[in-house]
Amino acid sequence: MMDDALERAFRERVAKRFGMKKGSMSLAIEEAIREWMRSEEEAKGVKEAKVEIPLEHVEEAPPPSPEFAEEIIRASGENINKCIQCGNCVASCPSGRITAYNSRRIIRKASMGYKEEVLRSIELWLCTTCYTCVERCPRKIDVVNAILTMRNMAVENGWMLDPHKVVSMNLMKTGHAVPIDQATRERRKELGLSELPPTVHQYERALLDVQHILKETGFFELVEKAQPQKAGSA
Ligand code: SF4
Ligand code: SF4
Repeated sequence: MMDDALERAFRERVAKRFGMKKGSMSLAIEEAIREWMRSEEEAKGVKEAKVEIPLEHVEEAPPPSPEFAEEIIRASGENINKCIQCGNCVASCPSGRITAYNSRRIIRKASMGYKEEVLRSIELWLCTTCYTCVERCPRKIDVVNAILTMRNMAVENGWMLDPHKVVSMNLMKTGHAVPIDQATRERRKELGLSELPPTVHQYERALLDVQHILKETGFFELVEKAQPQKAGSA
């Protein structure tokens, strides 16, 4: 620890050097430290370096799409432009507490037209559809409905998370998003149940019907063409 006389002398020198008055001593000290760091860098020959990034490596952000908000409003019936950015939805969001998900920000970016940024973001898929935000939004916006609409739009544009693609493939192949596994078969037998549940697992004809519906409704094609979604943030 500095003794009183030394501290006084140090303060006087700093004040004299930087012309600070008594109350601004901490600012003067900060400035003294900054100057010392600058002189150290100069002594080592470290110059401020400008990093030039070649233009071909700069990914151009897609321009905002002014119709995006209208598309969402039309498809969902939710007027996201009524949002006043109060943040009530985020404050009560269980997903937002542990992830980067921020419903207020997604709504804002959507109303500003950042279509690609929103639809390609992984956060779009982090809503658990618990509906807490819907209870609390002072503007009566059904945030879940808006989010689900944007998810549909993402898939229609060919952006889908890998795990969702796997689940969708399961559905197309087996008629179940989570098909039965060997352990569950065994457990069913132990419990005196039929090894397979009375679903498409038991009725092959019903599986063909499910596959037919998935094909006719365009689900099959949609999942097939979807690309893995890039990590990004809305
Ligand atoms: S519904 Fe989604 S956005 Fe709303 S509070 Fe629940 S997790 Fe958050
Ligand atoms: S609670 Fe409603 S008004 Fe507030 S930020 Fe969320 S969506 Fe917007």
